Amino acid sequence: MGVVLAVANQKGGVGKTTTSINLSASLASMNKRVLLVDLDPQGNATSGSGVDKNQLQVTLYDLLVNDQNIDDVIVPVKSAGYDLIGCNTDLTGAEIALQPKEGRESLLSQMLNQVRGRYHFIIIDCPPALGLLTVNGLIAADGVIIPMQCEYYAMEGLTALVSTISRIAATHNQKLKIEGVVRTMYDPRNSLTGDVSEQLAEYFKDDLYQTLVPRNVRLAEAPSYGLPVLQYDKDSKGAKAYLALAGEVLKRLPPEAIKAAEID
Ligand code: ATP
Ligand code: MG
Repeated sequence: MGVVLAVANQKGGVGKTTTSINLSASLASMNKRVLLVDLDPQGNATSGSGVDKNQLQVTLYDLLVNDQNIDDVIVPVKSAGYDLIGCNTDLTGAEIALQPKEGRESLLSQMLNQVRGRYHFIIIDCPPALGLLTVNGLIAADGVIIPMQCEYYAMEGLTALVSTISRIAATHNQKLKIEGVVRTMYDPRNSLTGDVSEQLAEYFKDDLYQTLVPRNVRLAEAPSYGLPVLQYDKDSKGAKAYLALAGEVLKRLPPEAIKAAEID
């Protein structure tokens, strides 16, 4: 069974999608089988993977709301080296459509359990909210990766995120934990960066990844080419940072956790 990691932070624009895409591509480059799940109706992980979100015949919405077979929803993304479950703005309607459904918070978990054995990693790109979609992501996950930008308001909202994770661990998913916190768009020239970085180290201690993802224009450009940065510019600082992050993620997990039963 592979490891399921939700990339979550209800704060917008902190680098969740950039981390989801590039961590997935970096793990794939290390011969891991990876499924990336786009759980954000903005569909940025879908388009950033080079898949036209408006041309998708079936999406995550159909999986969650219409009981679509999961095999019909998985798209192999050859250029990036991983598989994708994509979505588009249709997914916005899922929160309402799912209200009457029993077990609506655990649907993604049930669906992903059917394919866990095929992948070493399933990475879930969560939307910038703590609503039903993110709750589905957290219930499906073994661990949460929290991207944080080292700026003035970074710590704001952290309590709500951490208490949501604790609540879900207590009610639905005992194994859920913070897998790690990653500093994104790191800019040492900004005087606040060091202060916030220290606060994060104090608060998260060993859960803080050592890898610093720098502010790097290649990372920002790559999605417009529909490519992970590793395929867009493998020598960029952004590509090297996400390879290092993938290395850290692998190092922290016990090897048996990463074993995918059906492929190893
Ligand atoms: P949302 O909350 O809207 O889903 P997000 O948390 O997924 O946003 P991203 O979309 O990954 O955040 O990043 C926000 C913006 O910052 C994007 O334009 C992205 O290209 C850019 N960006 C992310 N990380 C970096 C980086 N390390 N260097 C430069 N630009 C970055
Ligand atoms: Mg995003």
